[in-house]
Amino acid sequence: MDDDMDDHPEPRDGAVVLGAGVAGLLAARVLAERFDRVTVVERDELPDSGPAFRPGVPQSRHAHVLWSKGVDLIEDLLPGTTARLLAGGAVLLDLPRDFLWLSPADWFLPVHGARALLGSRELLDRTLRGQVLRDARIRVRARCTATGLVAAADGRSVAGVELRSGERLPARLVVDATGRTSRAPDWLAALGHPVPATTRYDSRLGYSSRYYAVPPDPARRWRGMYVQGRPDSPRGGVLVPLDGDRWLATLIGNGDHAPPTAQEEFLGFARSLRSPALHDALRDAQPLSSPVGFRNTANERRHYERLEHAPDGFLVLGDAACRFNPVYGHGMTVAALAADALRGELRTLSPREVPGAVRRIQRSTAAAGRDGLADRHERGPALSADRRPATGPHHPDHAALHVPSDRRRQRRPGRGRPLLRGTVPVRDAGHPAGPGHDAPRPVPLAPAGRPAHHPVPGPPRAAGGLGRAG
Ligand SMILES: Cc1cc2nc3c(=O)[nH]c(=O)nc-3n(C[C@H](O)[C@H](O)[C@H](O)COP(=O)(O)OP(=O)(O)OC[C@H]3O[C@@H](n4cnc5c(N)ncnc54)[C@H](O)[C@@H]3O)c2cc1C
Repeated sequence: MDDDMDDHPEPRDGAVVLGAGVAGLLAARVLAERFDRVTVVERDELPDSGPAFRPGVPQSRHAHVLWSKGVDLIEDLLPGTTARLLAGGAVLLDLPRDFLWLSPADWFLPVHGARALLGSRELLDRTLRGQVLRDARIRVRARCTATGLVAAADGRSVAGVELRSGERLPARLVVDATGRTSRAPDWLAALGHPVPATTRYDSRLGYSSRYYAVPPDPARRWRGMYVQGRPDSPRGGVLVPLDGDRWLATLIGNGDHAPPTAQEEFLGFARSLRSPALHDALRDAQPLSSPVGFRNTANERRHYERLEHAPDGFLVLGDAACRFNPVYGHGMTVAALAADALRGELRTLSPREVPGAVRRIQRSTAAAGRDGLADRHERGPALSADRRPATGPHHPDHAALHVPSDRRRQRRPGRGRPLLRGTVPVRDAGHPAGPGHDAPRPVPLAPAGRPAHHPVPGPPRAAGGLGRAG
């Protein structure tokens, strides 16, 4: 099903999408509403047998959260996707209600906050692919690497894409959704077009992740765990449930606090977090893999939307245009927001009009991500560390993780009772308050120092045990 190497010539009228990740698949789904033929070009092999790791999506080995806005947008584009994901073993949780969550101030109470879908990235990608390819207008060509753009005779437009094999695929519209390794600036430069300016903020965040079998424990009342860092203890960790009765444990730290990838050091780092809760949960769990790291985590936006003289017929979506520090968990939702914006723009255009409208579309897709997510961060304290330019000396604040660390900011005036305003709504990825949507709400914290609402079974292993939260 996935590997369509049929010999139909690609019609010049069709659209070609580069990359079968979340952004590419959702774009293909939307483009098929306007184009008779949409071809998705993917470098990797796309196994049909079930969810499987792909080298083109190395981030799949690290915890991925799909916030409710993303879930709803994907469901709207591809009805039945959520049910298929749940049938495959993913879970829809309410955070912080279903988590043990230590915020920079204290433990959250188990109250309704925001919905999130948790499951393996492999399951999500495989499910989305299956859903998208039900549309006969969409074909995928796996094991095909795009290596450049083909210029039209007028010199102003893109007329197709070049593959490593030397083959050229003609297209009315080419969409680059090749993710963080996108070569689009080089491709544009090779055709004599200007390249986009880049904004980059780097908090030097590192990830290290490892799969575990979930140890059976009927008394366990939480489904996942999040121990956040803060400037005086800039290490964190998250434990998410995955399909296949697995946990994925992702350890997080900035700069010199980046977590280790050596097997024997993984648990030691987990023990050094502000609470030993995550370490204690993993201590007797059976590891299913070695730890793997991820370091290239800067926020980076390539401003294709600002190009005055971009060629007609070429769009850039997803991480290829705008990638976030992964700790916000927003990349997939931004891809869905951009697909939704693309859909809105295409409604009023005929296929012939699309190539000439790409600058407007690019502005609209960029705004969808910016308005929904990025600017919220950039306006608020959450991104204070990331807002500093990538260059320059390492400042201790760079070690700050992603939520306000100033407890005063979180206190309700006159009551001295901390509330964490903003964290969950901001993480809920631009979900507008309105009917059926999760409205931003303050999330109360537990009495100082104890996740008393969710007793974790077993004796405390250190002084203060699970209640110790520095
Ligand atoms: C460590 C980490 C954790 C993250 N956690 C979250 C999270 O919790 N929640 C969230 O929403 N987002 C998260 N993200 C972001 C998320 O992974 C991406 O935003 C999301 O995958 C959308 O990316 P994409 O489709 O643009 O690119 P990708 O998913 O990276 O897909 C790009 C595709 O293009 C293919 N490709 C590349 N080059 C070529 C070529 N030349 N020719 C053909 N095909 C090519 C690749 O093989 C791949 O299939 C995280 C990212 C990282 C790095």
